[in-house]
Amino acid sequence: MLEIKNLHVEVDGQEILKGIDLTVEPGEVHAIMGPNGSGKSTLAYVLAGRDGYEVTGGSIAFRGEDVLEMGPDERAALGLFLAFQYPIEIPGVALMTLLKTALNAQRKARGEDELSTPDFMRLVREKAGELNVSQEMLKRPVNVGFSGGEKKRAEILQMAVLQPWLCVLDETDSGLDIDALKVVADGVNALRGPERSMVVITHYQRLLNYIVPDKVHVLSAGRIVRSGGKELALELEESGYAIYQDEAAA
Ligand code: ADP
Ligand code: MG
Ligand code: MG
Repeated sequence: MLEIKNLHVEVDGQEILKGIDLTVEPGEVHAIMGPNGSGKSTLAYVLAGRDGYEVTGGSIAFRGEDVLEMGPDERAALGLFLAFQYPIEIPGVALMTLLKTALNAQRKARGEDELSTPDFMRLVREKAGELNVSQEMLKRPVNVGFSGGEKKRAEILQMAVLQPWLCVLDETDSGLDIDALKVVADGVNALRGPERSMVVITHYQRLLNYIVPDKVHVLSAGRIVRSGGKELALELEESGYAIYQDEAAA
């Protein structure tokens, strides 16, 4: 699904990612944990193809294709989805309109017909219901005046409608109370399956009680300094990240 080899990334001439290797098989859920400023969001952005993140070495293959040759829209059409740590507001564009436009763009890129309006409405109502997203929220401009929890649910709704192959979730748990966290985790778990993979980025272990990962990686100062099974997240809860700082520096 995803094969990252020796990835080096610079932002504003400063090296942020210093040689990342990561392989995610179909069906696997990988958690990336690490302290603030370790490069977690940088990794998410470079996967999605955000401007200003310069790859100075290494490679990223997604479903066997070199994504570094593709724009963000092509990556999305191929089935790569990023749920943002800080979802942006899009005044003037209703959430419903965003969903329909994104889904149809994806279908077009894959040579499929547009979904009819009744079929689209049925799909969105079903997914929105599961995520406690109201009809009223669907009509509002994307994220404008949404609470933190509503923004995160809107991200997961986009994911549920687009059914990506690879979901990258950047600190989807930040700012959520326990009830909102459960709704989001249920939404994510509903999308788990043998052919879909997820990279769940989180600072805290708490989310991983609800979205149980197959593998956990610790990112520190732009390097993966440790990888293990789900028990590694619990260990980190005990030890904190400080013990990895020296390792990363070395
Ligand atoms: P995390 O998501 O793990 O908190 P980030 O990927 O956001 O970490 O940031 C990693 C490092 O890159 C930090 O030191 C941060 O200051 C730096 N950084 C991130 N974005 C930019 C940017 N646009 N310009 C300059 N430095 C940046
Ligand atoms: Mg951060
Ligand atoms: Mg971040």
